[in-house]
Amino acid sequence: MEMRICLLAGDGIGPEIIEQGVRVLEAVAAKFGHDMEFTDALIGGAAIDETGSPLPQDTIDACKAADAVMLGAVGGPKWDELTGAARPESGLLGIRKALGLFANLRPATLFPELASACFLRPDIVAKGIDVMVVRELTGGIYFGQPVGDEMRDGVRTAYNTMVYDENEVRRIARIAFEAARKRSGRVCSVDKANVLAVSRLWREVVTQVHAEEYSDVELSHMYVDNAAMQLVRDPSQFDVIVTGNLFGDILSDEAAVITGSIGMLPSASLGADGPGLFEPIHGSAPDIVGQNKANPLATILSAAMMLRHSFNLEKEAAAIESAVQQVLKAGYRTGDIMEKGCTLVGCNTMGNLVTERI
Ligand code: NAD
Repeated sequence: MEMRICLLAGDGIGPEIIEQGVRVLEAVAAKFGHDMEFTDALIGGAAIDETGSPLPQDTIDACKAADAVMLGAVGGPKWDELTGAARPESGLLGIRKALGLFANLRPATLFPELASACFLRPDIVAKGIDVMVVRELTGGIYFGQPVGDEMRDGVRTAYNTMVYDENEVRRIARIAFEAARKRSGRVCSVDKANVLAVSRLWREVVTQVHAEEYSDVELSHMYVDNAAMQLVRDPSQFDVIVTGNLFGDILSDEAAVITGSIGMLPSASLGADGPGLFEPIHGSAPDIVGQNKANPLATILSAAMMLRHSFNLEKEAAAIESAVQQVLKAGYRTGDIMEKGCTLVGCNTMGNLVTERI
């Protein structure tokens, strides 16, 4: 298969971890006979320094011309004085918007080898954690109109609007059901239908999409307050969780933090068509930049997500995930996941170890 991949290395540890992701992808291409073409484009602080804008038009064009986009991280103390649209982070929001990415997929997987980093009790961890949170990214209360801040009867009052139309719910539901078909085949839709009208529509539409198109997938519904509790009580009950923007923001962070390893967690953002964006969930880690200390595994696992979700290459994605697991099993760790009895390695060596096992 021919794949054109646009690389947005960004700032801080971004270039270091992207380099390792590319090496692993090149090993996959060689082993499975694919043709991968990589192009680089500027984003974030690096783009500000070079062009004055955190998201130059050239970068948008390069991303649109590609089949998939891989991003390192953006931001850092050098650009902290900037505000609003001038900030590096606005490049990230801008590219998501330009590519029409409305679905954010965040798996929270605990490799058994890293169980001791998990914040939950060992008997809960023993049952395994492998949850994928599918969050709606472009609608809901973060974007709903009207928004305001005004005086009402002499009292300062502010409001936002949580709004979804049936098309927005339908398309995110499809992404979740498709993701479940590539996993354990279970979707839990999370809402607040006992209180919110918008959630009642959400639940109705998800149920309808399921009945009409995805009856092979198991569907359940859960209120968001219960879901927040169940995620720490027994995360093993979940496969795919699909939910709106606000609930997804909170639940995806909750699911991530219980694994205890921010340097291990990948993510994908998908649109209706056009390239998806694949990136680690962590930031640019300015405190360890240039020291060969960054953990590249979240980026490497993002590359696996890219192969699975943008190119439908399940065997190739699984080869990366299995290589990562073998390296962990052999006892190699970067500083952020280091534990007693393991071998400390740097970013480059970690990339080598995974590449060798592809
Ligand atoms: P951060 O994720 O960069 O770092 C938090 C802590 O985790 C730091 O101690 C860091 O060293 C460590 N860490 C993160 N990733 C690591 C990795 N791969 N390997 C080893 N250790 C790792 O979050 P922060 O410190 O809050 O933010 C730093 C900068 O990153 C800010 O400018 C912020 O705006 C930006 N940021 C960007 C993104 C993104 O690009 N998607 C996300 C979050 C934060």
